[in-house]
Amino acid sequence: MTVAIGVIGTGMIGTSHIRRITGSLSGARISAVTDADLAVAKQVAEDLPDAEVFDTGQALIGSGRVDAVLVTSWGPTHEEFVLAAIAAGKPVFCEKPLATTADACRRIIAAEVAADRRLVQVGFMRRYDAAYRRLKAEIESGALGAPLIYYSAHRNPAVPSTYTREMAIVDTAVHDFDIARWLLGEELVAIRVVPAKPNSLGNGLQDPLLMIVETESGALVNVETSVNIRYGYDIRGEAVGEKGTATLAGPARVPADWRERFTPAFDTELQEWIDAIASGAEPAGPSSWDGYAATVVCDAGVKSLDTLDRVPVVLGAKPALYERSVR
Ligand code: NAP
Repeated sequence: MTVAIGVIGTGMIGTSHIRRITGSLSGARISAVTDADLAVAKQVAEDLPDAEVFDTGQALIGSGRVDAVLVTSWGPTHEEFVLAAIAAGKPVFCEKPLATTADACRRIIAAEVAADRRLVQVGFMRRYDAAYRRLKAEIESGALGAPLIYYSAHRNPAVPSTYTREMAIVDTAVHDFDIARWLLGEELVAIRVVPAKPNSLGNGLQDPLLMIVETESGALVNVETSVNIRYGYDIRGEAVGEKGTATLAGPARVPADWRERFTPAFDTELQEWIDAIASGAEPAGPSSWDGYAATVVCDAGVKSLDTLDRVPVVLGAKPALYERSVR
């Protein structure tokens, strides 16, 4: 089966995913596109032999031309499209964030639980990076003993002038929160944000930030965001266990930006999603629950940035549907 994918949002990451699906991945084709700016969608469709342009995301989701939906529009629109895909019974890959509020994430979870079927996968692509997969295997082998601390550095060379201090948490550290949950196999239960001396290259932005995050078992996750570090896009990780440490393997040289660092991970992420759909399996990647958990940690982080207090992360009970997640 060739999976017919409809893409909602043909901006930067949407067109990048379209290129990888048509250029380097197998088992799928782009059958439909839409964008808030239809002229942009039409331009993108010109290079796609089989893609119809739809006026709205809702119309695209309802079309018989579409087997599965790729949501790559602006974050606040994600809830509407993910809910519509669930209602239509179609698998949906939603770029992060799953939704911009915890309540919206809960509505998505309720709809998926009611359908009693995992239809949603969230775009936390780090889980598909070969180095992160090796680090997880090392932790799970038991060779380090119980993990005590995970250090996660997230450094960007520069950010646009529209980047706000909250974005260091909701757009940047969100990836570190997800990967820490996945590596350690635990929920995060509290966060405290500590601003460092501001980088003078940051035009007054409160940057860097350190975040001290607690896990259920009492281990700590130390996240650093530095978004004006100039020298490149530098992602680091180190797990410290009771009897050993393991470091995230990095590329031979520091990449210029995130695309260079994570292109193979994006490829693997979407290929595994396509393969699961083609075989009729539930997606095994990051679930609605994972998207929800990341959003709740972000909300607590933003609150802590304002108050400088330790803020608890309260998730509530995890529905049984998400225990089926295997990756
Ligand atoms: P972008 O370049 O602004 O693209 C978003 C596109 O969606 C724009 O063309 C926008 O049109 C369109 N859009 C907005 N509302 C829409 C609607 N209701 N229906 C259809 N199209 C709509 O943004 P981006 O950088 O690609 O980011 C898109 C999403 O991907 C964001 O949620 C972002 O966080 C996520 N992302 C994830 C990663 C990752 O590391 N996994 C990396 C980059 C981005 P207009 O411009 O006309 O509004």
